[in-house]
Amino acid sequence: MALIVHKYGGTSMGSPERIKNVAKRVAKWARAGHQMVVVPSAMSGETNRLLGLAKELAPAKESNAYMRELDMLASTGEQASSALLAIALQAEGMESISYAGWQVPIRTNSAFTKARIESIEDDKVRTDLNAGKVVIITGFQGVDEVSNITTLGRGGSDTSAVAVAAALKADECLIYTDVDGVYTTDPRVVPEAKRLKTVCFEEMLEMASLGSKVLQIRSVEFAGKYKVPLRVLSSFTPWDIDINEEAKSGTLITFEEDTQMEQAVVSGIAFNRDEAKISIIGVPDKPGIAYQILGAVADGNIEVDMIIQNIGKDGRTDFSFTVHRNDYARAIDLLNAKVLPNLGSAEVLGDTKICKVSIVGIGMRSHVGIASKMFRTLSEEGINIQMISTSEIKTSVVIDEKYMELAVRALHKAFDLDQVQA
Ligand code: ADP
Ligand code: ASP
Ligand code: MG
Repeated sequence: MALIVHKYGGTSMGSPERIKNVAKRVAKWARAGHQMVVVPSAMSGETNRLLGLAKELAPAKESNAYMRELDMLASTGEQASSALLAIALQAEGMESISYAGWQVPIRTNSAFTKARIESIEDDKVRTDLNAGKVVIITGFQGVDEVSNITTLGRGGSDTSAVAVAAALKADECLIYTDVDGVYTTDPRVVPEAKRLKTVCFEEMLEMASLGSKVLQIRSVEFAGKYKVPLRVLSSFTPWDIDINEEAKSGTLITFEEDTQMEQAVVSGIAFNRDEAKISIIGVPDKPGIAYQILGAVADGNIEVDMIIQNIGKDGRTDFSFTVHRNDYARAIDLLNAKVLPNLGSAEVLGDTKICKVSIVGIGMRSHVGIASKMFRTLSEEGINIQMISTSEIKTSVVIDEKYMELAVRALHKAFDLDQVQA
């Protein structure tokens, strides 16, 4: 008997029919003798619908009072789907009980809309499991010190599931979704993308942080920190497939690097359209300038990703960086109000029509020339590179958004990812 956590995403919970299927699958696992905890997302579209209603009433605001209510609102999506799943399981003849995050409780800090889990109490859940019940815990949410409901950021049910698995020391956490595993790149963009049988934790962490939305990055961080055995697999296989076959399907996130006999140099390609570029042209080329610009941005609570500063000419230089698109307008206002007045004749330029494309692979550590192959591939497609950043296991470039799909497809081919054997 093992303790297993299942997580089902929005599409997997998308209709009463699909919820019934989830219930049948979970019942199959419980009847095979496992203790089962299930973490569902809201039904697909529900979180967007709820947040859309809020926007109809008032434009998005940064205020704590407003964000608190967004969390009150958005968390109801998971409360509904969890209760529906418990009802469906009961209809399958399984004893089942659902809990909202605050009832467990899953304790978080108070950063509304992007709260971090601090601790999870397991007493209640263990009592129910020992009484033979299937326990359902809402994804995406928790409760802060003063009983406010919080949410964990979009896609946060992955993180809830992995954190619950870590707290319960579960034998495995299975993330059921609408694709049958982690692919070499998003299969919706590159139909030739191939499923990876295994992907190592570090690569998964990079892919998630660079835009592959198949797992929320914090869920991967938790899995790494607590060594939670984690697998991504499809909820769209027939619910009654052989349980041993199902248990081996999908993609396993591994913690050892040498599980793949022949490690590909590049394992995957990630991309995102969430960033915007800001350039300050003609800043004085002297000590303290980067601090003056980025210090002000950081004081505005705006995260910066890529940064470029060139050697100056005639005592002036240009300084560029990227921020999340949601922070773009605020960053420009802040620079104009607080930084530009101290920078002489410098001016601010912005571009929201950019994207970041990245190649990821631990094999890059031991191979040279990978980045230059990336640059050559893009140049052969006539794609101009605006910014570059590298680490041991990834190279990212910023390019014009309109070339994103072309770049991803060309790189996928150039690094032979369509030849990967799943
Ligand atoms: P869920 O609702 O189950 O959480 P998500 O939409 O959050 O599902 O994540 C699954 C989606 O992630 C897939 O439908 C796919 O389009 C996308 N995706 C992006 N990159 C990848 C990748 N490398 N491998 C698999 N899926 C990916
Ligand atoms: N329902 C939330 C969202 O849409 C959380 C999740 O699905 O993981 O972002
Ligand atoms: Mg998701």
